[in-house]
Amino acid sequence: MQEFHYKALPVDVHFGVGKSAETKDILLQHGYHKVLVITTPGQEEAGRKLAKELQEICVGLYPHAVMHVPVEVANKAVEFAKESDIDCCLALGGGSTIGLAKIIALKTHLAIVAIPTTYAGSEMTAIYGLTKNNLKTTGKDSHVLPKVVIYDPKLNQALPAKISACSGMNAMAHAVEALYAKDKNPIISLMAIESIKALKSSLPVIVKELTNISARQKASYGAWLAGICLGSVGMAIHHKICHTLGGTFNLPHAQAHAITLAYSVHYNRNADIEAMDRLAEALDVSSREEVGLAIYRLNQSLGIELALKDIGLPEEGPADVARMVCDSPYYNPREYNYDELEGLLQRAYKGLPPA
Ligand code: NAD
Repeated sequence: MQEFHYKALPVDVHFGVGKSAETKDILLQHGYHKVLVITTPGQEEAGRKLAKELQEICVGLYPHAVMHVPVEVANKAVEFAKESDIDCCLALGGGSTIGLAKIIALKTHLAIVAIPTTYAGSEMTAIYGLTKNNLKTTGKDSHVLPKVVIYDPKLNQALPAKISACSGMNAMAHAVEALYAKDKNPIISLMAIESIKALKSSLPVIVKELTNISARQKASYGAWLAGICLGSVGMAIHHKICHTLGGTFNLPHAQAHAITLAYSVHYNRNADIEAMDRLAEALDVSSREEVGLAIYRLNQSLGIELALKDIGLPEEGPADVARMVCDSPYYNPREYNYDELEGLLQRAYKGLPPA
């Protein structure tokens, strides 16, 4: 066995159906008495309900989170937090809401408590993102890692089928890339495999039956594990491609991840043989040659759009993305080959199977 380094994330996790009803008690146990609830405009109503349940410990509601954390939105939120007398930001929502709370925490060192309502995984990482002049930059800082995370699969029942499917595949992408990460380790790999299996079995049920609570539980469990993977080890070619698709072409985050994952794993299918054999097993296919196709077929069965052109990538996109990825690559278990990558991105553009 290879030598490894493993550091557990210092996050207090509460998980259970209906768990969010205990939010006030959990906040008080952790010593938070002056709480600002943060949501997107779309989840304002849910935020208002939560704020009401918190009674006297809720200082206010800030329903202004936006995808990819534009710097203007972040600056206003930081000012608002500084002017309010608060000891904690309670982020109720997906990666966008948690992302805004992270910038507040970065600038003020206030604590974050997160109640994730998608499967994106941001709640388990110390990674933050900020978008300025159409360029998204990311950084890592221990202050932005939530102190407490409350998973309540009941809250995910309101997430529409399409977003549930793409968000779940976004989570799966974190787990998949953890398997062949530069700093992979046996504990994270175990979590990754468990996460992939949980997501693979729960998402097909969820898209047919949004309120199936045992499938929602399983998907939240898979997403939690995937979030730990993302927060613990480095990502590779797939995340580089998706950061380029989101940052430069403004493609929707979860959909870009969902579509592209099939092509990224196909590209890497023979790169880390141990990892890819384990992935094949988790995806229930007989060889690593089939992992890309297995993910493509899973996307198809979930009703996810299959072509990058249908979610906004322009015709010159595949060549541009391949060039940008090769020009400033992340670590990957195999070398970057422009021609091969461009060929795969052309297939992803058209929605053709990876092989
Ligand atoms: P999101 O947070 O933008 O949510 C998508 C939409 O779904 C929003 O309109 C939201 O209001 C709505 N929504 C969320 N939960 C809902 C629910 N339960 N019911 C009904 N509607 C609901 O999407 P996302 O994919 O979770 O997050 C994407 C953002 O998160 C991107 O900016 C991405 O870069 C970031 N992200 C960061 C990290 C990290 O570690 N820093 C990890 C993953 C994602």
